[in-house]
Amino acid sequence: MASKSYRALVVVLKKTKLREKDLIVTMLDENGMLRQAVAKGARRPGGSFAARLELFSVVDGWFVEGRSLDVVTDAKFAEGYSAHQFGLEQAACASAVAELVSAVAQEGLVHERLFDMTTLALETIASSNPDVAVAICVADLLKTLAMVGFRPSFDTCVSCGRRIDWENAPSRMRLSIADGGVVCEQCGSVPDAVIVDANTIVWARTMLSRTFAEMADDPPDVSISFSLLQFIRQWVQAHVGKNLKSVDYLLVCGLF
Ligand SMILES: [Zn+2]
Repeated sequence: MASKSYRALVVVLKKTKLREKDLIVTMLDENGMLRQAVAKGARRPGGSFAARLELFSVVDGWFVEGRSLDVVTDAKFAEGYSAHQFGLEQAACASAVAELVSAVAQEGLVHERLFDMTTLALETIASSNPDVAVAICVADLLKTLAMVGFRPSFDTCVSCGRRIDWENAPSRMRLSIADGGVVCEQCGSVPDAVIVDANTIVWARTMLSRTFAEMADDPPDVSISFSLLQFIRQWVQAHVGKNLKSVDYLLVCGLF
């Protein structure tokens, strides 16, 4: 029986070495589904189409179904998407975007806006200075979590359901990672709640509602982005069950 072949528009999220000359490529397709395929001979010097399977780039790929993994048979840079050059800081931010997407997207599960959001975030990160890039990265991580059903509750208290009055909120607020979000003043003593700067949560809410272009025009101070990265790291650990190595790297790399 002939193997079935197909074409897919994908963004490259990860490349893992396989044997001496091959790669496993992890990708997100335009329906928001995760795909993995083997690129045979991709690690050979001058290896044909392998150069076009550049990390974070959008690729028009041709695949053949395999017994365990599909095989990439050809790839070219997709029309309408530019190939980006990522600086060191921008690459670190893009890695966090790609790692979270790889952790939450699934094979065969459609997430309609995930591809557009991810490619736009990567494009914006590539063309931004480091402070803006990290803000776009944080905004994308929060939006991705919200899109796949792990949106933190910033508007109502996770303990009593009371609406949080952000206009008149105290400067420090309690947040419970385990319970899923902000705890109001009246419920203050939830056991695992941590105290956070209210301004940081206000920024998280802003990031969830703004476009990447709006974020790039008016980014928060880099210290706010890093407080949110700390929060996201713990949030993903608790709710997705995954340690985001690239977020750990952003937190310790000293590039920003
Ligand atoms: Zn409450």
